[in-house]
Amino acid sequence: MHKRIELLLSPSQAADHAIVRMHAAREAGVLLDAVTSVRFIRRSIDARTRMPGVRIQADVFVGEEAPLETGYLSAMRRADAKKRVIIVGAGPAGYFAALELLEHGITPIVLDRGKDVRARRRDLRAIQQDGVVDPHSNYCFGEGGAGTYSDGKLYTRSHKRGSIEKVLQLLVDHGATRDILIDTHPHIGSNKLWLVVQKIRETILEWGGEVHFGAFVTDMIMKEGAGGARSVRGVLLEDGQEMLADAVILATGHSARDVFSLCVRNGITIEAKPFALGVRIEHSQELIDSIQYHHAPRDPNLPASSYKLVCQAEGRGVFSFCMCPGGLIVPSATSPGEIVVNGMSMSRRDSPFANSGTVVAVEPDDWKAFASSGSLAAMEYQASVERAAFASNGDGSQRAPAQRLVDYLGGHVSSSIPQTSYIPGHVSIDMRSIIPPNIDSRLRYAIREFGRSMRGYLTNDAVMVGVESRTSSPVRIPRNAITREHVSVGRLFPCGEGAGYAGGIVSAALDGQNVAQAIVAKIFSAA
Ligand SMILES: Cc1cc2nc3c(=O)[nH]c(=O)nc-3n(C[C@H](O)[C@H](O)[C@H](O)COP(=O)(O)OP(=O)(O)OC[C@H]3O[C@@H](n4cnc5c(N)ncnc54)[C@H](O)[C@@H]3O)c2cc1C
Repeated sequence: MHKRIELLLSPSQAADHAIVRMHAAREAGVLLDAVTSVRFIRRSIDARTRMPGVRIQADVFVGEEAPLETGYLSAMRRADAKKRVIIVGAGPAGYFAALELLEHGITPIVLDRGKDVRARRRDLRAIQQDGVVDPHSNYCFGEGGAGTYSDGKLYTRSHKRGSIEKVLQLLVDHGATRDILIDTHPHIGSNKLWLVVQKIRETILEWGGEVHFGAFVTDMIMKEGAGGARSVRGVLLEDGQEMLADAVILATGHSARDVFSLCVRNGITIEAKPFALGVRIEHSQELIDSIQYHHAPRDPNLPASSYKLVCQAEGRGVFSFCMCPGGLIVPSATSPGEIVVNGMSMSRRDSPFANSGTVVAVEPDDWKAFASSGSLAAMEYQASVERAAFASNGDGSQRAPAQRLVDYLGGHVSSSIPQTSYIPGHVSIDMRSIIPPNIDSRLRYAIREFGRSMRGYLTNDAVMVGVESRTSSPVRIPRNAITREHVSVGRLFPCGEGAGYAGGIVSAALDGQNVAQAIVAKIFSAA
């Protein structure tokens, strides 16, 4: 038999398995020696009081072993070489679509412009150390997509979009720690994610799927049917190779600007879409810990603390985004000539810095100066801010524009920038010269508000580094809500963040699974 119990323990008690077991037995009302195992169901930090605790929900097993967790690998089937789906993009959307197709015995052919996870690391070093951005291999492009060298936060609000449990379990099946199944704020960390991604590729190959790197898709192969109805038959690669399949999943992420242009060129409907724009703000982790853990030093058994801030400014939302406790600000441009920042962290979250994107909702009014670009107007607006950030350093490097928060509010260029986690370095400027006025006034208001709601936030050592512009896609590729097929081009399935249907690793993975299921229903179930 087993009994579900709840415990509230101190951080050091919660970190000691023998102590947890003892408390669990007591709570279940059984003798310690009778307990065969204690399986955690949920774990969260309760930091509302001066003495933060750890809440644990667990099943206590007595007289029987906890059942084995089987995972989803046993659901894979050998792929049928006659049923082929091309997946453009090896990000979470693409790879999870591939795994889902394999559960139905359909061959996924994954194409990615970038390199495998290992080879990709050299190109990340080149961006960090030499400021050289490879347009095919960077923090956004390459195996695992933008998710690989990210923070690896795995929480999502997409609860209605599919089985989050299945996404997390598949990550565990591929080597992620089981902790992600129980923590309220699951996190893998950049140093571990790449191994998980590599194992997912091995599963795809093992069951008969294909994964091709350096496979830059430059065009679609279209077919016109009766009555002028158009559908996609396959894709063309940069090297001239044509690849054909029963369907094409377009999962190219929010930064594949050439793919959006490719759609326009081929008359594949796309729409400009709002996103959010701002900066990364960095504090010392020690400061954030002292604020969040009630001015006491952090217990070594507690995680680096985070925050979530939101307010309304002149009718628009301003919010902290992708908070990375114990993390780094990273250069995540995808082309030379632009500066874009984002955040990541390692599994231990042990850097001395805490950063978050702090961004303002962008609306159609903002990109009206780019109206002549039609459905690419929001993208062109986004690109113009990134180019302005690049131009601000004047030396063609990835040194990012920066300003102390208090100087930003006071309208002074900072006479010095304190040390930050951003490796390529900074140039001290007045951020107003690159942040568009509609965004600037709201950011300014919000920072004051955040300083009021979180005492200590607005300090002389807090720095903003710009620009945080790739919060989500500036384009939507519209699709049918049920079949998930493009609204006007048959057999084309827009998917993931780039198509405007996801905003993070888990939601992109869920969308990949959903699109794969839709393809099974639409294309293969009648066959
Ligand atoms: C630094 C950083 C940190 C992040 N941290 C987190 C986090 O902690 N938690 C979280 O949930 N999200 C995080 N994100 C966001 C998350 O990574 C994305 O939401 C997610 O990866 C989107 O998945 P996707 O599969 O839709 O697209 P992507 O991951 O962007 O993958 C798209 C893939 O398509 C490929 N591609 C593009 N164009 C072509 C082409 N023409 N031909 C062939 N291949 C092409 C690219 O190489 C890329 O591999 C972070 C992002 C970054 C950059």
